[in-house]
Amino acid sequence: MAVWDDLVGQDRVAGQLTAAARDADTLVTAEAAGGGRPASRDAADASAAPRVSAASPGSSKMTHAWLFTGPPGSGRAAAARAFAAALQCVSPDRALGGAPGCGFCEGCHTTLIGTHADVEVVRTDLLSIGVKETRDLVRRAQLSPAGGRWQVIVLEDADRLTEGAGNVLLKAVEEPAPRTVWLLCAPSLEDVLPTIRSRCRLLTLRTPPVDAVADLLVRRDGIEPELAASAARATQGHIDRARRLATDERARARRAAVLKLPLRIDDVGGCLKAAQELIDAAAEDAKQVAEETDVKETEELRAALGAAAGTGGRLPRGTAGAMKELQDRQKRRATRTQRDSLDLALTDLAGFYRDVLALQLGSRIALANTDVQDALERIAAGSKPERTLRRIEAVRACREALDRNVAPLLAVEAMTMALRAG
Ligand SMILES: [Zn+2]
Repeated sequence: MAVWDDLVGQDRVAGQLTAAARDADTLVTAEAAGGGRPASRDAADASAAPRVSAASPGSSKMTHAWLFTGPPGSGRAAAARAFAAALQCVSPDRALGGAPGCGFCEGCHTTLIGTHADVEVVRTDLLSIGVKETRDLVRRAQLSPAGGRWQVIVLEDADRLTEGAGNVLLKAVEEPAPRTVWLLCAPSLEDVLPTIRSRCRLLTLRTPPVDAVADLLVRRDGIEPELAASAARATQGHIDRARRLATDERARARRAAVLKLPLRIDDVGGCLKAAQELIDAAAEDAKQVAEETDVKETEELRAALGAAAGTGGRLPRGTAGAMKELQDRQKRRATRTQRDSLDLALTDLAGFYRDVLALQLGSRIALANTDVQDALERIAAGSKPERTLRRIEAVRACREALDRNVAPLLAVEAMTMALRAG
């Protein structure tokens, strides 16, 4: 199975990446044949080894910095990892004209399972990535690849770099080491500093077709075809959410509760209650994540710092700062989880009203929420399309307010009130 097989509905991107991986492979092979010297930076040197070209759009050439964009769930990070694997592919088939990225060889396999020495995948569960972490990463990027191919850094959440961190990264992207490749992922171009994105080759993933996502869930995750189809439809081509919905009972219950909301907001009391419940559900998610990870992390750090295990013993002198740092991190992660969870609920709600609008307009597009068809039809029959549009707008405004750090309860209350109002 080639590394590209999990990239559903992204044939164009897979084609571009395959071409670049082939070019990258040619560079590595030519250099190895030329005595294994690192690429010379002296352009006047006629005997210089082949060099990586600068970023130019649509080119099949290899380049040092890539930016993977695409809507949430389209598989940006999966595409970046697949490319990283193809760059490390050492399959003997390459010599016979096979494309790099076989999926089986040592290079592909270790990259995909996350143990390749020359591939660093950075993802964060925090709201932002700071200067310190980015400096560490830039230092790491300067290393020569131990395996003799490429030093690959995958930054899954490049949109979360603080401005300071972005400037640190910019210097590294401007003057990369000869064998270093940066693979940045972000929802859209606007999420990355213009100075950084102008130095990257851009790749845009599209929302994968619902059928293709269902197919992936069956093939890759062994999920029942019917369940896979309904999860893919409900999440409208968001791969990770579809998988979660198909495998997590709690996620299904949460979604069902959200989709009941439109029928429960007849009066002000109902609106305020519904808002409070959305907030509580998000807080509950954050609490659960905290319970699963915080205790373990704290214990591990205590052990690492040399505290006597199980005795609640004091931390050695001078280590309180590290514990404080972990607690801050855990707090930031809770905020992030809460926000993501609420955003998910709002996404479901917007999808509900989009279906209502489709019914009102007699559109023939496939509905996402066929499991609540009755509710969709009731709301559709009881209101006009203009009103539905205003409701969709109210959900969008709420998400924007949350992005601007408006107090969540206030933002959600304003939304439920607007959903009720004509
Ligand atoms: Zn391979």
